[in-house]
Amino acid sequence: MKASKGPKSLELPDDNNVDTPTPIPLVGIDTSTLEASPSRVEEENRLAERLKECGQQPLNAVSRFLVRAPVVHWLAVRVHLMAGDLVHAVETLVDWWGRHSVTKERDSVGEVLGRMLDSIWTLLPLYPTREIRQLVLLMLLMANVPIHDRFASDLRFVKLMESFFDGLIPPLKSHTTRQTYQSRRRLSEYNQAERESIVKLISQKRSEQLRQKYSTFRQRCEQPLKSSSQLRFYSNCRHYERCIVESGPNRVDIIEAKNRMRKCTRCVIRDRQQKQAPRRSLLHDSG
Ligand SMILES: [Zn+2]
Repeated sequence: MKASKGPKSLELPDDNNVDTPTPIPLVGIDTSTLEASPSRVEEENRLAERLKECGQQPLNAVSRFLVRAPVVHWLAVRVHLMAGDLVHAVETLVDWWGRHSVTKERDSVGEVLGRMLDSIWTLLPLYPTREIRQLVLLMLLMANVPIHDRFASDLRFVKLMESFFDGLIPPLKSHTTRQTYQSRRRLSEYNQAERESIVKLISQKRSEQLRQKYSTFRQRCEQPLKSSSQLRFYSNCRHYERCIVESGPNRVDIIEAKNRMRKCTRCVIRDRQQKQAPRRSLLHDSG
Protein backbone atom coordinates (compact mmCIF):
# COMPACT_ATOMS: atom_id res chain seq x y z
CA MET A 1 0.00 0.00 0.00
CA LYS A 2 2.96 2.28 0.66
CA ALA A 3 4.36 2.00 -2.88
CA SER A 4 4.07 5.29 -4.72
CA LYS A 5 4.35 3.70 -8.16
CA GLY A 6 3.12 0.49 -9.69
CA PRO A 7 0.49 -1.89 -8.35
CA LYS A 8 -0.30 -1.65 -4.66
CA SER A 9 -0.74 -4.74 -2.58
CA LEU A 10 -1.94 -5.45 0.90
CA GLU A 11 0.00 -7.89 3.01
CA LEU A 12 -2.29 -10.20 4.93
CA PRO A 13 -1.29 -12.40 7.82
CA ASP A 14 -1.03 -15.98 6.71
CA ASP A 15 -0.10 -19.28 8.25
CA ASN A 16 0.47 -20.85 4.86
CA ASN A 17 1.28 -19.40 1.48
CA VAL A 18 -0.96 -19.76 -1.53
CA ASP A 19 0.67 -19.49 -4.92
CA THR A 20 -2.30 -18.07 -6.80
CA PRO A 21 -4.18 -15.43 -4.85
CA THR A 22 -7.94 -15.24 -5.39
CA PRO A 23 -9.44 -11.75 -5.54
CA ILE A 24 -11.93 -11.02 -2.78
CA PRO A 25 -14.82 -8.85 -3.90
CA LEU A 26 -15.57 -7.34 -0.49
CA VAL A 27 -13.95 -3.97 -1.12
CA GLY A 28 -16.28 -1.19 -2.19
CA ILE A 29 -19.26 -2.12 -0.02
CA ASP A 30 -20.86 0.88 1.56
CA THR A 31 -21.36 -0.01 5.21
CA SER A 32 -22.25 3.48 6.36
CA THR A 33 -25.98 3.37 5.64
CA LEU A 34 -28.39 1.09 7.40
CA GLU A 35 -31.13 1.23 4.79
CA ALA A 36 -31.00 -1.81 2.55
CA SER A 37 -32.61 -1.07 -0.79
CA PRO A 38 -33.71 -4.12 -2.83
CA SER A 39 -31.15 -3.35 -5.54
CA ARG A 40 -28.39 -3.08 -2.97
CA VAL A 41 -29.36 -6.37 -1.39
CA GLU A 42 -29.33 -7.95 -4.85
CA GLU A 43 -25.86 -6.63 -5.49
CA GLU A 44 -24.66 -7.87 -2.11
CA ASN A 45 -26.14 -11.28 -2.83
CA ARG A 46 -24.18 -11.37 -6.07
CA LEU A 47 -21.01 -10.56 -4.13
CA ALA A 48 -21.85 -13.32 -1.65
CA GLU A 49 -22.19 -15.76 -4.57
CA ARG A 50 -18.76 -14.71 -5.80
CA LEU A 51 -17.31 -15.35 -2.35
CA LYS A 52 -18.20 -19.02 -2.85
CA GLU A 53 -15.65 -19.16 -5.65
CA CYS A 54 -12.82 -18.20 -3.29
CA GLY A 55 -10.53 -20.83 -1.84
CA GLN A 56 -10.27 -21.48 1.87
CA GLN A 57 -6.96 -19.64 2.33
CA PRO A 58 -7.98 -16.24 0.92
CA LEU A 59 -11.18 -16.42 3.00
CA ASN A 60 -9.12 -17.21 6.11
CA ALA A 61 -6.87 -14.25 5.37
CA VAL A 62 -9.78 -11.83 4.90
CA SER A 63 -11.52 -13.20 7.98
CA ARG A 64 -8.38 -12.55 10.05
CA PHE A 65 -8.07 -9.10 8.53
CA LEU A 66 -11.71 -8.37 9.49
CA VAL A 67 -10.97 -9.43 13.08
CA ARG A 68 -8.33 -6.72 13.27
CA ALA A 69 -10.35 -4.14 11.33
CA PRO A 70 -14.00 -5.09 11.96
CA VAL A 71 -16.70 -4.16 9.44
CA VAL A 72 -20.28 -4.42 10.69
CA HIS A 73 -21.89 -5.89 7.60
CA TRP A 74 -23.58 -9.21 6.91
CA LEU A 75 -21.00 -9.98 4.22
CA ALA A 76 -18.33 -9.84 6.93
CA VAL A 77 -20.40 -12.38 8.89
CA ARG A 78 -20.53 -14.51 5.74
CA VAL A 79 -16.75 -14.30 5.28
CA HIS A 80 -16.14 -15.41 8.88
CA LEU A 81 -18.59 -18.29 8.45
CA MET A 82 -17.07 -19.40 5.16
CA ALA A 83 -13.62 -19.21 6.75
CA GLY A 84 -15.00 -21.34 9.59
CA ASP A 85 -14.55 -18.78 12.37
CA LEU A 86 -17.77 -19.22 14.34
CA VAL A 87 -17.07 -16.86 17.25
CA HIS A 88 -16.18 -13.83 15.14
CA ALA A 89 -19.10 -14.55 12.82
CA VAL A 90 -21.51 -14.44 15.76
CA GLU A 91 -19.88 -11.35 17.30
CA THR A 92 -20.22 -9.51 13.99
CA LEU A 93 -23.78 -10.77 13.51
CA VAL A 94 -24.77 -9.49 16.97
CA ASP A 95 -23.33 -6.02 16.12
CA TRP A 96 -25.02 -6.02 12.72
CA TRP A 97 -28.36 -7.06 14.24
CA GLY A 98 -28.08 -4.35 16.91
CA ARG A 99 -27.51 -1.66 14.31
CA HIS A 100 -30.29 -2.75 11.98
CA SER A 101 -33.17 -1.98 14.28
CA VAL A 102 -34.70 0.21 11.56
CA THR A 103 -34.69 -2.41 8.86
CA LYS A 104 -35.36 -5.53 10.94
CA GLU A 105 -38.86 -5.96 9.60
CA ARG A 106 -37.77 -5.94 5.98
CA ASP A 107 -38.04 -9.25 4.14
CA SER A 108 -34.55 -8.82 2.71
CA VAL A 109 -33.00 -8.54 6.19
CA GLY A 110 -34.97 -11.56 7.40
CA GLU A 111 -33.83 -13.59 4.40
CA VAL A 112 -30.17 -12.67 4.91
CA LEU A 113 -30.43 -13.39 8.64
CA GLY A 114 -32.09 -16.76 8.00
CA ARG A 115 -29.23 -17.86 5.74
CA MET A 116 -26.61 -16.78 8.28
CA LEU A 117 -28.42 -18.60 11.09
CA ASP A 118 -28.63 -21.75 8.93
CA SER A 119 -24.83 -21.68 8.61
CA ILE A 120 -24.35 -20.98 12.31
CA TRP A 121 -26.62 -23.93 13.11
CA THR A 122 -24.31 -26.14 11.01
CA LEU A 123 -21.12 -24.96 12.72
CA LEU A 124 -22.43 -24.71 16.28
CA PRO A 125 -23.24 -28.33 17.27
CA LEU A 126 -19.88 -29.51 15.89
CA TYR A 127 -17.86 -26.95 17.85
CA PRO A 128 -15.52 -28.92 20.13
CA THR A 129 -15.64 -26.67 23.23
CA ARG A 130 -18.81 -26.78 25.34
CA GLU A 131 -18.23 -23.31 26.86
CA ILE A 132 -17.98 -21.72 23.42
CA ARG A 133 -21.20 -23.42 22.27
CA GLN A 134 -22.88 -21.98 25.37
CA LEU A 135 -21.33 -18.54 24.92
CA VAL A 136 -22.38 -18.31 21.27
CA LEU A 137 -25.99 -19.13 22.15
CA LEU A 138 -25.93 -16.68 25.06
CA MET A 139 -24.60 -13.90 22.81
CA LEU A 140 -27.40 -14.50 20.32
CA LEU A 141 -30.05 -14.62 23.04
CA MET A 142 -28.72 -11.53 24.83
CA ALA A 143 -28.84 -9.61 21.55
CA ASN A 144 -32.41 -10.86 21.03
CA VAL A 145 -31.54 -12.25 17.62
CA PRO A 146 -34.66 -14.23 16.63
CA ILE A 147 -33.32 -17.74 17.21
CA HIS A 148 -36.06 -18.64 19.70
CA ASP A 149 -37.87 -21.16 17.51
CA ARG A 150 -34.67 -22.85 16.31
CA PHE A 151 -33.34 -22.94 19.83
CA ALA A 152 -36.54 -24.23 21.45
CA SER A 153 -36.94 -27.02 18.91
CA ASP A 154 -33.44 -28.41 19.51
CA LEU A 155 -33.26 -30.29 22.81
CA ARG A 156 -29.46 -30.58 22.58
CA PHE A 157 -29.20 -26.80 22.84
CA VAL A 158 -31.99 -26.49 25.41
CA LYS A 159 -30.20 -28.94 27.72
CA LEU A 160 -26.86 -27.25 27.07
CA MET A 161 -28.28 -23.91 28.19
CA GLU A 162 -30.86 -24.75 30.83
CA SER A 163 -28.61 -23.97 33.80
CA PHE A 164 -28.58 -20.34 32.62
CA PHE A 165 -32.38 -20.25 32.66
CA ASP A 166 -32.73 -21.72 36.14
CA GLY A 167 -34.46 -19.20 38.38
CA LEU A 168 -35.40 -17.00 35.40
CA ILE A 169 -38.38 -18.91 34.03
CA PRO A 170 -41.54 -16.84 34.47
CA PRO A 171 -44.81 -18.58 35.39
CA LEU A 172 -46.79 -19.29 32.24
CA LYS A 173 -50.12 -17.47 32.03
CA SER A 174 -52.30 -20.53 31.55
CA HIS A 175 -51.00 -22.19 34.70
CA THR A 176 -51.42 -19.42 37.25
CA THR A 177 -52.62 -21.73 39.97
CA ARG A 178 -49.50 -23.85 39.71
CA GLN A 179 -47.08 -20.92 39.54
CA THR A 180 -44.64 -22.04 42.20
CA TYR A 181 -44.43 -25.54 40.84
CA GLN A 182 -44.15 -24.31 37.24
CA SER A 183 -41.30 -21.93 37.86
CA ARG A 184 -39.25 -24.69 39.46
CA ARG A 185 -39.31 -26.79 36.32
CA ARG A 186 -36.26 -26.82 34.11
CA LEU A 187 -36.52 -25.53 30.56
CA SER A 188 -36.35 -28.97 28.94
CA GLU A 189 -39.41 -30.09 30.92
CA TYR A 190 -41.71 -27.72 29.03
CA ASN A 191 -43.11 -28.52 25.61
CA GLN A 192 -41.64 -26.90 22.52
CA ALA A 193 -44.17 -24.06 22.20
CA GLU A 194 -43.81 -23.23 25.91
CA ARG A 195 -40.02 -23.31 25.62
CA GLU A 196 -40.15 -20.92 22.71
CA SER A 197 -42.29 -18.37 24.54
CA ILE A 198 -40.17 -18.66 27.70
CA VAL A 199 -36.93 -18.11 25.80
CA LYS A 200 -38.46 -15.21 23.86
CA LEU A 201 -39.61 -13.56 27.11
CA ILE A 202 -36.27 -14.02 28.85
CA SER A 203 -34.28 -12.83 25.87
CA GLN A 204 -36.47 -9.75 25.34
CA LYS A 205 -36.41 -8.86 29.02
CA ARG A 206 -32.64 -9.32 29.47
CA SER A 207 -33.03 -9.02 33.22
CA GLU A 208 -30.22 -7.86 35.49
CA GLN A 209 -29.91 -11.45 36.73
CA LEU A 210 -29.34 -12.75 33.18
CA ARG A 211 -26.86 -9.98 32.39
CA GLN A 212 -24.95 -10.86 35.55
CA LYS A 213 -24.88 -14.54 34.59
CA TYR A 214 -23.70 -13.59 31.10
CA SER A 215 -20.88 -11.32 32.23
CA THR A 216 -19.62 -13.85 34.81
CA PHE A 217 -19.70 -16.59 32.20
CA ARG A 218 -17.98 -14.43 29.60
CA GLN A 219 -15.08 -13.87 32.01
CA ARG A 220 -14.81 -17.62 32.56
CA CYS A 221 -14.57 -18.07 28.78
CA GLU A 222 -11.44 -15.97 28.35
CA GLN A 223 -9.16 -18.96 27.80
CA PRO A 224 -11.52 -20.97 25.52
CA LEU A 225 -12.03 -17.75 23.50
CA LYS A 226 -8.28 -17.36 23.00
CA SER A 227 -8.03 -20.94 21.74
CA SER A 228 -11.09 -20.49 19.54
CA SER A 229 -9.35 -17.90 17.39
CA GLN A 230 -7.02 -20.71 16.27
CA LEU A 231 -9.83 -23.04 15.22
CA ARG A 232 -11.20 -23.30 11.70
CA PHE A 233 -14.23 -25.20 10.41
CA TYR A 234 -13.76 -26.86 7.01
CA SER A 235 -17.15 -26.94 5.34
CA ASN A 236 -16.61 -29.85 2.97
CA CYS A 237 -15.55 -32.39 5.60
CA ARG A 238 -17.35 -30.69 8.52
CA HIS A 239 -14.34 -30.83 10.84
CA TYR A 240 -12.76 -28.20 13.03
CA GLU A 241 -8.98 -28.00 12.91
CA ARG A 242 -6.41 -25.89 14.68
CA CYS A 243 -4.55 -23.51 12.32
CA ILE A 244 -1.26 -25.23 11.70
CA VAL A 245 1.81 -24.57 9.62
CA GLU A 246 2.06 -27.56 7.30
CA SER A 247 5.37 -29.37 7.14
CA GLY A 248 6.84 -32.38 5.36
CA PRO A 249 7.63 -33.11 1.72
CA ASN A 250 4.01 -32.73 0.48
CA ARG A 251 3.53 -29.41 2.27
CA VAL A 252 2.71 -27.32 -0.81
CA ASP A 253 0.38 -29.98 -2.27
CA ILE A 254 -1.53 -30.32 0.98
CA ILE A 255 -1.92 -26.56 1.39
CA GLU A 256 -3.20 -26.31 -2.17
CA ALA A 257 -5.63 -29.23 -1.71
CA LYS A 258 -6.96 -27.86 1.61
CA ASN A 259 -7.52 -24.51 -0.04
CA ARG A 260 -9.32 -25.94 -3.07
CA MET A 261 -11.27 -28.75 -1.39
CA ARG A 262 -12.08 -26.93 1.88
CA LYS A 263 -11.14 -29.98 3.89
CA CYS A 264 -8.93 -30.34 6.95
CA THR A 265 -5.41 -31.78 6.73
CA ARG A 266 -6.42 -35.23 7.99
CA CYS A 267 -9.19 -35.59 5.41
CA VAL A 268 -6.98 -34.31 2.58
CA ILE A 269 -4.30 -36.89 3.48
CA ARG A 270 -6.88 -39.67 3.86
CA ASP A 271 -8.39 -38.84 0.44
CA ARG A 272 -4.93 -39.06 -1.09
CA GLN A 273 -4.18 -42.40 0.51
CA GLN A 274 -7.51 -43.79 -0.72
CA LYS A 275 -6.77 -42.58 -4.24
CA GLN A 276 -3.30 -44.09 -4.18
CA ALA A 277 -4.41 -47.43 -2.73
CA PRO A 278 -6.20 -48.84 -5.85
CA ARG A 279 -3.30 -47.75 -8.06
CA ARG A 280 -0.89 -49.61 -5.84
CA SER A 281 -2.96 -52.81 -5.97
CA LEU A 282 -3.16 -52.55 -9.79
CA LEU A 283 0.62 -52.37 -9.90
CA HIS A 284 0.81 -55.47 -7.73
CA ASP A 285 -1.64 -57.34 -9.99
CA SER A 286 0.30 -56.55 -13.15
CA GLY A 287 3.60 -57.37 -11.50
ZN1 LIG B 1 -11.77 -33.17 7.89
